[in-house]
Amino acid sequence: MKLLFFIALIDILFANTISGYTPIHKCINYNSQLYIAIRSFDLNSKKVLLIVDANTLKTGVILKSSATFEQCPKEIFHSRYFKLLNHAKYETKHKLQNDGIVSSGGGVVITTDLCPSHKKGFEDRLYLALIKRFKKPVPVTLFITKRWILKHKKAFNKLRSWQKEGKLDITWGNHTAKHIYHPKAKLGHNFVLSPEENLAQDTLNLEVELLKKGVVPSVFFRFPGLVSDKKSMDTVSNLGLIAIGSNTWIAKGEKIKQDSIILVHGNKNEPKGVTMLLKYLKNPNFPQPISIRRISNNR
Ligand SMILES: [Zn+2]
Repeated sequence: MKLLFFIALIDILFANTISGYTPIHKCINYNSQLYIAIRSFDLNSKKVLLIVDANTLKTGVILKSSATFEQCPKEIFHSRYFKLLNHAKYETKHKLQNDGIVSSGGGVVITTDLCPSHKKGFEDRLYLALIKRFKKPVPVTLFITKRWILKHKKAFNKLRSWQKEGKLDITWGNHTAKHIYHPKAKLGHNFVLSPEENLAQDTLNLEVELLKKGVVPSVFFRFPGLVSDKKSMDTVSNLGLIAIGSNTWIAKGEKIKQDSIILVHGNKNEPKGVTMLLKYLKNPNFPQPISIRRISNNR
């Protein structure tokens, strides 16, 4: 996917201006390859598209003028992207907690949630341990929120520098901008099910925040608190995002297995999980983690 030249261009700017951010679902031809365009917007007054490769699940931002819109061929709906998207949307039971894709299908995926936090700093001990322990760049998914980014600029920049230096292969996952949470409310009226939530807006706002900072959002999404219902799953899926749960929330005592999607918190809100994962990493048999983009679509 030859997209990075444009990303590099936006990356050096101090802050990008984004306007007219609109979800779309169109097939495009770019550099003689088929992609799916999922957002259309103006970036520093240039018309651009956020696109996804339906097989590798990599995303990129390209100039709209460099793409031609096409009729989607039937095969595209059998691609990995659509299989995963449709699995999360149609083939799960829509439980109140942990809906969506919870298993990698083979290979250990590490996800770290960056929910809003008053804690200073972040779990750099975890990211440093991953960098030290595995072949670089080490795949890791960050499910990130706008509220965390705004309060932790230094940590955010550190994570980005590890990515730029080729130490981490970061997938920037969406954990909503606000991550609404009411300590006393029941789950059915909490997180994205809170009455004041506008989920589509909250989701797109996180993407805009990343793009403003020169970071390309991925197509992966995690519900805050892992709480959702059918309607919120539809909202997220209709935005072209694949909802990811977890079968290995380490702080809750769930053991690592060969198809783990590990959940720990990178924001210092749950140090127990990180401490336990660091212990696991001491085991010489702990396998090289795989990217979330490589989870199996055979389910
Ligand atoms: Zn969270």
